[in-house]
Order: sequence, then C-alpha cells, then structure tokens
Amino acid sequence: MRDFIYSAAPARILFGTGTVGRLGEELDRLGVRRALMLSTRGQQGTALAIAEKIGARCAGLFPGAAMHTPVDVTASAMEKLEETGADGLVAIGGGSAIGLSKAIALRTDLPQIVIPTTYAGSEMTPILGETQDGVKNTRSSPAILPEVVLYDVDLTLGLPAAISGVSGLNAIAHAVEALYARDRNPVTDLMAEQGVRALARSLPHIVAEPDAHDARYDALYGAWLCGTCLGSVGMALHHKICHTLGGSFGLPHAQTHAVMLPHALAYNSPAVPDAMATLGRAFASDDPAQALFDLGRNIDAPAALRDLGMARGRLKILAHRQEVDVGRAHVVHHLMHLQPLFAQAEHHA
Ligand code: NAD
Repeated sequence: MRDFIYSAAPARILFGTGTVGRLGEELDRLGVRRALMLSTRGQQGTALAIAEKIGARCAGLFPGAAMHTPVDVTASAMEKLEETGADGLVAIGGGSAIGLSKAIALRTDLPQIVIPTTYAGSEMTPILGETQDGVKNTRSSPAILPEVVLYDVDLTLGLPAAISGVSGLNAIAHAVEALYARDRNPVTDLMAEQGVRALARSLPHIVAEPDAHDARYDALYGAWLCGTCLGSVGMALHHKICHTLGGSFGLPHAQTHAVMLPHALAYNSPAVPDAMATLGRAFASDDPAQALFDLGRNIDAPAALRDLGMARGRLKILAHRQEVDVGRAHVVHHLMHLQPLFAQAEHHA
C-alpha cells in the first residue's frame, strides 16, 4: 500500500450510440450561440453532416486540421474564428482535429465540445503538443482540456481497419505507461487494466469486421479509459520517444506508437514488475511485451520504423543534433539504446 493523489479531469462525458444528436443541448449548457467546427480534410463530410444537425448554430467549418498541430494551421484557423465571430468550438475527428481545437482554446479560452472518431485519447487531456520548424513542444493547461466529450460509437464504424488497429495500440500505450508512471495511483491502475483488456479483445475483431458494433463500443470504451489515464498521470520513455520521432520527422502518430510500444515495454519490463503483472492479467499472457508485439501482427500494424519511411541513419542525426535540450538528448540516448530492437522489429516485419 502507498499514499497517492488522484486528480480527476473536470470534463463532462456523454458515451453511447447517437450521442452526436445531443450536440445542440450541450452547446446550450455551455452557453455557446455559434460554434466554429473543426476537422481534417478527410473528416470534412462527417463534420458537415453534424453541422447540418445544428443549423445556424454552426458559425463555419475549418477543415484544415493536421497531424502534430502545426502552428501555421492554428494561425489560419484563428483567422477563420475572427471572421465568423464564433463563441465556441466543436472538433470532430481524431487527435489532429482535437489538437487544433485545444490550440485555439489555449489562445482564446473558448469552450470546446469534442467528438472523437479515433482512439487517440487527446479529448481527455489538458495537454497540447504543437509543432513549429520540425520541433514539437508540449504544454499543459486547464484551458486546454475540452469541457464536453461526445463519444458516439456510430462515428467510429467508418474508421478504416488499418487506422483502427494502430489507433487502438496508441490508446494502449497510454495505459501501459500509466501503470509505471511516477504519479500512478490505484484509480488509474484500474482504468488502465480495464482499458487494455477492452482494446486487446476488440481490436482483432474490428480489423476482421470493421462495422462490428459491439466491438466498436468496447474499443471506444477502452480508448476513453486509456485517454483518462493519459490525462491523469505522467507518461514516460515510450511517449517521449514517439513525440521526438513524430515531431522531428513527421512520422504518423499512431503508427509510431504501434511500432515502438512493445520494444519500450520490453526495455522497461525488468524495472516495473507491478505493471507487468497487471498487463499480464489484461493480456492473459505471462509476457505482455510479446503479447503486444503479437497483437500488432494480428491486426496488421506496421512492425518497424522502416515501414513508416524512417531510415536507420536518421536516428543518428537526431542523436547528434546540437540544438537538442537536455530532456530531448536524454530521450534520444534511450532511443539509440533501442536500436538493436529496431533490428529485431525489422526482422519480424
Ligand atoms: P488523426 O486525427 O490525424 O486521424 C488520422 C486519420 O484518420 C486522419 O486522416 C483523419 O481524417 C482520419 N479519420 C479520423 N477519424 C476517422 C473516421 N472515423 N473514419 C475515417 N477516417 C477517420 O490521428 P490521431 O491518431 O487520432 O491523432 C494524432 C494526433 O493527435 C497527433 O498530432 C498527436 O500528437 C495528437 N494526440 C494528442 C494527445 C494529447 O493528449 N495531447 C493524445 C493523443 C494524440
């Protein structure tokens, strides 16, 4: 037994099927008259369909959200916000759309309703990672945390199998690292175990049958639990490595997590026996790192950074960059340490 602190993120969660139909009521609750809607280009159609449901309450749509929240995209969205005079934000999509919403909220303190369509979990965190000139900087503030999250299982039915699998592994990464976080606590431990279990059993089902409603429900529920872990406790080596790789080389977020997670966990495993025991129960395996690696193969996730277009030599460039600050250098040191494992992943691919 040990003492602990648990801080709950003060967000309102609506979870289920057809929940997006309640967007108007939720805007009323927040006192928002006209909201700027945000999405990626790919999710523009879904965003427009939702905009139609709220009619004149939609002040406009900015469909330019991009991975890793580039600051120039945020600047363009801020111009659109000014043009429309919107007094609230609605983001529809994955971490890219939600990241843009958070970036605008940080600059304006406008209230946010977010409607996640992937399993990335950004909706549950007061964290924003923004990218400028190839460097991703992360900050945390209560203004960043969305006020309301509408989880609608129906919106995830169209998430392609390939994105669903890696997005689910991205969610599992939050739970894995929550289990050995410095500020871990019994509440996040429970959520992490349950979240991993829900995703580990539902992802293979979803990849085989993407519109399986029950499995989609299970996965979104697991993603919410894992996202709550991410928003409650600190992340460690694995997340730092993925942010460094993603921000520096523009690697796709979820795929990078999918590749790195089994190796980061294998590397940490001797130091974190309690986390390994919990993950052993969640995966029903006495080797959770191997179980994660096998889950990745089972759902056709990429197995090596090479599969994401990353050349081995670029790791050295990153490690030797003169401008890296002490924290990043530390991360890169670990990254170099993991090189033999990249080779292993390439071998398995
Ligand atoms: P994403 O939002 O870029 O979505 C991936 C792709 O899937 C996009 O092309 C999108 O248009 C498409 N898509 C999304 N939902 C879909 C659906 N239901 N059907 C069909 N296509 C769909 O990617 P992501 O992995 O969700 O988020 C990654 C971003 O989020 C990164 O920038 C990452 O840093 C950030 N993130 C931040 C946090 C945080 O707490 N700050 C947490 C997790 C992720």
